[in-house]
Amino acid sequence: MIATISPVSVTEAHPFRQALVDAGLLFPSDVPGVYGRGAAMEAIVAGLDAAISGLGSDDGTSVIRFPPVMSRAMIERGGYLRSFPHLLGTVHCFEGDDAGQERILQQVERGEDWGGEQRLTDLVLAPAACYPIYPASAGTLPAAGRLLDVSAYCFRHEASPDPARMQAFRMREFVRLADPATVEAWRDQWQPRALQFLRDLGLDPRLAPANDPFFGRGGRLLAASQAADGLKLELLVPTSSDVKLTAVMSLNYHREHFGETFAIRTADGAIAHSACTAFGMERIALALVRAHGVEPGDWPAEVRARLRLAA
Ligand code: 5GP
Ligand code: ZN
Repeated sequence: MIATISPVSVTEAHPFRQALVDAGLLFPSDVPGVYGRGAAMEAIVAGLDAAISGLGSDDGTSVIRFPPVMSRAMIERGGYLRSFPHLLGTVHCFEGDDAGQERILQQVERGEDWGGEQRLTDLVLAPAACYPIYPASAGTLPAAGRLLDVSAYCFRHEASPDPARMQAFRMREFVRLADPATVEAWRDQWQPRALQFLRDLGLDPRLAPANDPFFGRGGRLLAASQAADGLKLELLVPTSSDVKLTAVMSLNYHREHFGETFAIRTADGAIAHSACTAFGMERIALALVRAHGVEPGDWPAEVRARLRLAA
């Protein structure tokens, strides 16, 4: 039998999800957490994109847009499989012959698993927008370090009826690579800036240490050290629920992890530090819908103006 993609039924009752679908903001598919986006949803995301550019860029910012796939070798080296093997999507392809194709067609016909004919390729689906930056930054940074503005469609294998937990979603990030003091100062100034960004959109964010879903027995240890080291903070707001808040942004300080792994050095030869600020585009959009309603035309004028939504 084909391994079921998800134990979650797409028809499971979810009032907020239903409201988004009824309003034409999201179009459901037969797979939980995979949606089409309507025009109004895309206008909100485009408005957020422009507002975020204004917020985090300076004269030296490099803008890079990534496809939804990235190098498998780089994900292996970066350590993602140690923490989140259950979330990673790998790209498999058929590289067989006529007999192999025949086996696939028969297995599909019988409703059987045809994965045996598929081979792991050099690609995985990007789990976060910033990952391709670190291997690409190997070598010596300019004296001032580097500030990058990146985005990608990201994938995480987490089927859920909750519309705020999508399997495929857009992530925008600013990434700072430099010496430790510069990176720490950059990360610190993002705390008030990120809170203000969300408040200016009429949201009421809470800043809290992150609580990532690390895998397996080793995961408990990783979760405990994440809570203790304070290197990742999240901004939480109501999206699908007023009670259980959702992380719409994260502030991450990786210290020397990527610098060491990918041989990134500062101008004076030391291992570079890195930090990133991530925006979950759909989640922020859903938080806005939660706060202001399914009809963006009825949102407060200041919020509409900030997102350049037509009056
Ligand atoms: P992180 O790398 O911190 O887990 O994710 C960065 C941001 O991506 C989160 O703050 C959130 O806004 C967004 N994100 C993470 N997981 C999901 C998800 O399952 N669905 C959606 N729509 N956004 C997500
Ligand atoms: Zn990042």
